[in-house]
Amino acid sequence: MGDALQIDIVTIFPAMLDGFLGQSMLKRAAEKGAVRFRVVNLRDYANDRHQTVDDRPFGGGPGMILKPGPLFRAVEALRSPEARVILMTPQGRRFDQRAALELSCARHLIFLCGHYEGVDHRVGEALATDEISIGDYVLTGGTLAAAVVIDAAVRLIPGVLGAEGAAGQDSFCDGALEYPQYTRPADFRGMKVPGVLLSGDHGEIEKWRREQAQKRTRERRPDLLA
Ligand code: SAM
Repeated sequence: MGDALQIDIVTIFPAMLDGFLGQSMLKRAAEKGAVRFRVVNLRDYANDRHQTVDDRPFGGGPGMILKPGPLFRAVEALRSPEARVILMTPQGRRFDQRAALELSCARHLIFLCGHYEGVDHRVGEALATDEISIGDYVLTGGTLAAAVVIDAAVRLIPGVLGAEGAAGQDSFCDGALEYPQYTRPADFRGMKVPGVLLSGDHGEIEKWRREQAQKRTRERRPDLLA
C-alpha cells in the first residue's frame, strides 16, 4: 500500500463522525495505513469568545449562513500543496462511482461541511477546488454527505477491501449494475438459487452473470447503457 490518503473533515458537528470513522471498513483502512483522518471542529477557527461561525444573510431571509472567516482560516491551517478542498453542497457536481475513483487516487482531501441555510458564496468561489452533491435532495448538514463520499472513495484504495478485487465487481464499475447474488440455503422457502450457480462450471457462471448484469441494467438503469 502506498502513502496514506490524508482526509480532513471540517464540521461544526465532529461527534457525528465518531461512530462512522471508528468502525468497519474505514477503521480497518486507517489501521492498515491506507488513510489518515483528521476531524476538525470549525468553531476552533472562530475568532471571538463565543466561537461564532454563522451569521444572518445579507439582504434578509430565513436561517443562518456559515461565515467565510472560520472556513478560510481552517483550510489555510490544514492545506498542503496537493490538497483538494471539497465543499459539500446540493448545488455541486453530482457524486458517482467515477468521482469516487478519482478521489481515491488523491493525496489530500479537505471536506467542508455546511449547515443551516448554507455557506457564504465566497467559500465556493475562492476556497474550494471542488463542489460535490450526493444527490438531488437537501440534507440538514454536509457532515453526513461528506461521510458518504469518504466511504465510497476509501473502499476503492487498492488493498483496503479484504478480498482483493471485490470492489471491481460492484455495480457501476464497468458501467452496469451487478448481477444477482445468492448465498445458502440453495432452497429458501421454495425460492431456488439458479442451477448454473451450483454447477461448478465457472465459464457458464461468468456468462450467466454477464447476461444478468446486462438484463438488470436494461430494466433498472437503461441510462447507464446509453
Ligand atoms: N440552502 C442550501 C441550498 O438550497 O443549496 C441548502 C443548505 S443545507 C440545509 C445545509 C448544508 O447541508 C449545505 O451547506 C451542504 O453542506 C449540506 N448538504 C445538504 N444537501 C446536500 C447534498 N445533497 N449534497 C451535499 N451536501 C448537502
